[in-house]
Amino acid sequence: MKIERAEVLGYCMGVRRAVEIAEKACKENPDKKIFTLGPLIHNNSALEIFKKKGINILKEDAGDLKNDFNNSVVIVRAHGVMPIVIDNLKTKGVSVMDATCPRVLSSQKRAADYAKKGYTVFLAGDKNHGEIVGISGHARSYGAECIVIEHKDDALAVQNVPEKSVLLSQTTISKSEYDVIADVLKAKNSNIVILNTICPATNERQKALVKLCKNVDGVLIIGGKNSANTKRLLRTAQELCNHAFLIETAKEIPKLFFSLKRVGLTAGASTPDFVIDEVEAALENHNAE
Ligand code: SF4
Repeated sequence: MKIERAEVLGYCMGVRRAVEIAEKACKENPDKKIFTLGPLIHNNSALEIFKKKGINILKEDAGDLKNDFNNSVVIVRAHGVMPIVIDNLKTKGVSVMDATCPRVLSSQKRAADYAKKGYTVFLAGDKNHGEIVGISGHARSYGAECIVIEHKDDALAVQNVPEKSVLLSQTTISKSEYDVIADVLKAKNSNIVILNTICPATNERQKALVKLCKNVDGVLIIGGKNSANTKRLLRTAQELCNHAFLIETAKEIPKLFFSLKRVGLTAGASTPDFVIDEVEAALENHNAE
């Protein structure tokens, strides 16, 4: 069996950075309690390892920070949070380590800058997603109206796009979805400022997967079953390849894959390197038998 990895797979820059910050927090604070605000990444294998290292998960809104959290470190994950959340943590005497992805920080800053100038901020994305909640919090902290648009229908339903309006997106939205929303709002106000805040990480993994599918008989997509970008990789692979499965660990490799001649591997942006290595090793060990 020939095993081929996609040219781009696994951790994106922001997730790798967040994981490194969490590891640094553990090393530098052996005598403190370490928490992350919500799960650091959407991957059960990685979360189990963090748990063993003593990293616990707090509710995303820090609502359970009612107790005395002195002598604690709280890590803000790559999605970022509303500024008020960080302020609240600090008033409780918590040391905050901010692992917000630099790309998300840039979106937060741009939303805040336009808000300061009196713009209405439109955000394209999932209104319950931590990143969108965080960015809207940055815009609203300067008194701006912030409207989240999830689908084309939401954009069509907007009654008024004020003269001073700006549109930003969740970093992981697809370009085609964003363009549709932008076109609808532009039709209501041709002066709306459209910013491109889409992160290339998702698209790079998608493109590499399309290339990979041309060379293999089946593809294993390694990642969390609740990870949006991993599920998107699965949908693409299912369209392009006869055999495509999403697995979280090597134990879930379908038997069929051990009989294929050419197997492709890809992984979502929150899949740790060691999980990818374990899947590859399981396939190779079978080869050697
Ligand atoms: S997908 Fe992009 S924006 Fe999101 S954490 Fe990764 S690098 Fe940052």
